[in-house]
Amino acid sequence: MTPDTTIRTMIPTAETLEAVRTHVAQWKEAGKSIALVPTMGALHEGHAALIRQAKKSADRVVVSIFVNPIQFGPQEDYQRYPRPFAQDVDYCTALGADCIFAPPTDVLYPDGNQPEQLSRVLPPERLTARWCGASRPGHFVGVATVVLKLLNIVQPHVALFGEKDAQQLAVIRQMVSDFNLPVRIEEVPTVRQPNGLALSSRNQYLNTPELQRLALWVPQLIEATRDQLSRTASIHEALENAKASVLNTHQDPQQLFQLEYLAVVEDTHWEPLETLRLPARIIVAARVGTTRLIDNQRLLASPP
Ligand code: AMP
Repeated sequence: MTPDTTIRTMIPTAETLEAVRTHVAQWKEAGKSIALVPTMGALHEGHAALIRQAKKSADRVVVSIFVNPIQFGPQEDYQRYPRPFAQDVDYCTALGADCIFAPPTDVLYPDGNQPEQLSRVLPPERLTARWCGASRPGHFVGVATVVLKLLNIVQPHVALFGEKDAQQLAVIRQMVSDFNLPVRIEEVPTVRQPNGLALSSRNQYLNTPELQRLALWVPQLIEATRDQLSRTASIHEALENAKASVLNTHQDPQQLFQLEYLAVVEDTHWEPLETLRLPARIIVAARVGTTRLIDNQRLLASPP
C-alpha cells in the first residue's frame, strides 16, 4: 500500500457551546446547510458511512464526540468505553468533516450528571419498555436527552443515525415528531465486516478468537430467522428453529454467549409479532463474554 503522504490541516475541534455555535452561525450566514453526526467516538467504518452521507446531505458536517454518562447504567462500560480522541480527529479530517464538537462532560452537564438532577426527555413507554429498554433501564431517557441537547446546541438542518441502533432511531424519530423539532432525521444502513458482524466500537472488547467466533452467532441468528420465516408462518417456531440451528452449547462450553433476546417486531412501535406482518424487523441482543452486542434487519418483503 502506498503511504498516504497528503498533508491535511486538522479540522477545528470545538469544546464549548459558544465555539461550535460560532462555526455554525458563520456557515449559516453564508447560506450553507448543516448536518450533525452524533457519536461517542472510537470511530469506525460505520461512523464513516454516516459522515459520508452527511456530506451528500448538507454543505457542512459537524461530528459530535461525547461519551454520554447518563445513558450508561451503573454496571455498564462508561469508564472503560474507548476514547482514542487523536485518532478520531484524524479520521474525521480524512473523511472531510468540517468540525468536531467534543464537549467535556461538565460543558453539557454543568450542574452534574446525576440523572435526577436534570431535566430529561421521557420517550413513550410503548417504545422503550421492551428490548434494550428493558435490559438497560434509563438508557433511552439518557439517549433522547443528549440528542435533544446536541440538536439544540448545533441546530443542524439534518442529523444522521445508524440503522444498527434501530430502537434508538425509533425513539429519536418519535422525539423529533412529538417536540416538533425543526430537523430532518436520516437513517444510514448498517455497515458490517465481511463475515457479517455489524461494526461497533464495542467490538474492540472481543479480544480473543473465541469471542470473535461466538460474536458471529449474532448476525447468524438474524439470517437463520429470516430463513425460517420463509418456511413457517409461526414466528415462535421460526425463532425456536433459528436458535436451535445457531446456538451450539458444544461450541461454547464456557457459556460465553448469553442470548438476551431474539424477536420479530413490527417496525413502528416495536411490538412483538406472532405472525409475520410487513414491514417488520428481526432484532437480537446477546452478551458475548462481557460485551453486549445488538443487531437487527428490516423485512420489507416476505423472505424468499
Ligand atoms: P455510537 O458512537 O456507537 O453511539 O454510534 C454513533 C452513530 O453511529 C449511531 O447513530 C449509530 O447507530 C451509528 N453506527 C454505529 N455503528 C454503526 C454501523 N455498523 N453501521 C452504521 N451506523 C453505525
